[in-house]
Amino acid sequence: MNAVELIERKRDAGRLTDKEIKWLISAYTDGTVTDYQMSAMAMAVFLNGLDADELAAWTAAMLHSGDTLDLSDFDMPKVDKHSTGGVGDKVSIPLAPIVAACGVAVPMMSGRGLGHTGGTLDKLDSIPGFDTQLDVARFREVLGRCGFVMAGQSETLVPADRKLYALRDASGTVPSIPLIASSIMSKKLAEDLDGLVLDVKVGSGAFMTDMDRARQLARTMVGLGDSHGVEVNALITDMDQPLGNMVGNSNEIAESIDVLERRGPADLTEITIALAVEMVRVADLDDPEGRVQRALDSGAAMERFLCMVEAHDGDPRIVGDRSLLPMATETTAIEAPRSGYVARCDARGIGIAAMRLGAGRTRKEDAVDPGVGIERHAKVGTEVTEGEALCVLTHRPGDISDALERARAAFEIADEAPAQTALIRERITSAER
Ligand code: URA
Repeated sequence: MNAVELIERKRDAGRLTDKEIKWLISAYTDGTVTDYQMSAMAMAVFLNGLDADELAAWTAAMLHSGDTLDLSDFDMPKVDKHSTGGVGDKVSIPLAPIVAACGVAVPMMSGRGLGHTGGTLDKLDSIPGFDTQLDVARFREVLGRCGFVMAGQSETLVPADRKLYALRDASGTVPSIPLIASSIMSKKLAEDLDGLVLDVKVGSGAFMTDMDRARQLARTMVGLGDSHGVEVNALITDMDQPLGNMVGNSNEIAESIDVLERRGPADLTEITIALAVEMVRVADLDDPEGRVQRALDSGAAMERFLCMVEAHDGDPRIVGDRSLLPMATETTAIEAPRSGYVARCDARGIGIAAMRLGAGRTRKEDAVDPGVGIERHAKVGTEVTEGEALCVLTHRPGDISDALERARAAFEIADEAPAQTALIRERITSAER
């Protein structure tokens, strides 16, 4: 087959056959198709899309580009959750132990943050000693022992996505619905799941900034799950402002523990519980709401969390003593320039500010500082008086003017309280697709 011919056809809005897509993905994975050819193809797909058959073939080809997990010997339902990414989104950390305590196995493969969005692995790395790189044998062992595991994706799972995602990141082709859907779903389908719950973020801090595209992405992924026999439910949730109060790494671990101790912020707790209920629901267990509540109230979810931290060689004493988490010592507050109501607290702006402090990375190889971050004091709708702290930056000594400027610009104060928007905007399941 000829890569140029396929690129030209997609460039001219033509269709690719199953066989051609299978060849393309396999030849790209082994290096026969070059990065510059695949980059042109990604742009052609970005501009002209893939139809439903092409998307199914593209996803299947990615899924089979490497190894897949075999968890068939675990005789429990296996369900994972995936978020399309946002600011302050630490939901996976309290969620997975809650769901494990409900009797569902959660083999969670997580990612690192890039740009203004955070990543679960970076947050877990801030727990002293914690090892996120588990081989398959250890991944299975932790899953068996604690009922859930949270580790980085192994090198051999969906290698086509590893290459293609880096290429898209460098070629302006990330926010394409077929490319995002196939990237996420190929990785999740490789985990041998019975069910999957998607948290599709919408708003300034998300890949999808408007509801129509978020809905389209959710429907596309639910459809891909259907065609592979995996039940997928999706919630579309707000990412116009950061989730919870903490943005960073250590501070987000502390806030995740707060949720398990039932003293977490209301928005983070609401989304965590809603996603946990969805996960128990797709696992087909009875009384999802009751199970989730009991997992929290009985302390069973916290026990699972401690089990997982120890199994990953992390220090479980962080639960009782937050000072064991690395934390920078300098703090600078951003004060309300006038009295009024917080009308905007832009998730993207806060995410970029935290990244500039060192909490995130602009390039994959950048190091992350676990001890810096932002604590937001005022959410959208809060009444504030002039001089009151809107947020506090925790940082290292030195010039942080850029981060300060970004964080300051993220807030807008108005005379009137803004209309409140729902945190959970929509639910999409196979039946409703
Ligand atoms: N997350 C992924 O895993 N892939 C994408 O393409 C976008 C977000």
